[in-house]
Amino acid sequence: IVPVHVYGNICDVEKIEEIAKKHGLKVIYDAAHAFGVKYKGVGIGNYGDMSMFSFHATKVFNTIEGGAVTFNDDQYVKVLNNNKNFGILNEEEVVFVGGNAKMNEFQAAMGLCNLRHIDQSIESRKLAFDRYYARLTNVKGIRLLENQENVTRNYAYMPIIIDGFKYNRDELKEKLQEYNIFSRKYFYPLISDFECYRNEHSSDDTPVAKHIAKCVLTLPLYEGLTVEDVDYICDTILELGNE
Ligand SMILES: *Cc1c(COP(=O)(O)O)cnc(C)c1O
Repeated sequence: IVPVHVYGNICDVEKIEEIAKKHGLKVIYDAAHAFGVKYKGVGIGNYGDMSMFSFHATKVFNTIEGGAVTFNDDQYVKVLNNNKNFGILNEEEVVFVGGNAKMNEFQAAMGLCNLRHIDQSIESRKLAFDRYYARLTNVKGIRLLENQENVTRNYAYMPIIIDGFKYNRDELKEKLQEYNIFSRKYFYPLISDFECYRNEHSSDDTPVAKHIAKCVLTLPLYEGLTVEDVDYICDTILELGNE
């Protein structure tokens, strides 16, 4: 089972574990959005058999490019190491088709620098995030993600769902651009609508995902985004809703 902790919001890790146990399956989390997130005080990488974190430049914690895997069994060390190094076992043996996923020294150094500031960075995001919630809660046609219990967040993204607002998602994105506010349609187009999968899967089979992919807009959120800037963004959205 490959669940995704989307936007730093976590999956129902307990329920998934139950299902995996029942059917004898492994669980590998896509935790690309979830660096620093905790559930019941425990780092999110402790759940499942493995969790895959992304340290790409756009993520909460970054090493420019890179990532990390956490796992619960030493038996994976060898296969993971081989995997990141072309499947090379030793000087004369290549045992499977691996990739090149080695982290270079410069990236590691960048990560060490960023790691020193990660708590402040998340705190700065929290200020902006909380301001968004204060300003955008209970606005007609805009839905926010619900707060998850027992979860320590990382404030990675500020997604809103535009459904029944004066403008649809695409229109609102265009309008905001006129005010120099650059938002993003997230997980759009739906993966099953990508040209490379289109002939194999139909997005009609996943109607909820299909609908939500048309409604999600992520608003600017980054370390150092000021409360004044968040107010400007929210004022603009609210005024557009009232036009
Ligand atoms: C960024 C991201 C990835 C890919 O991470 P890379 O470090 O670019 O390989 C995978 N899944 C999700 C949900 C992401 O946001």
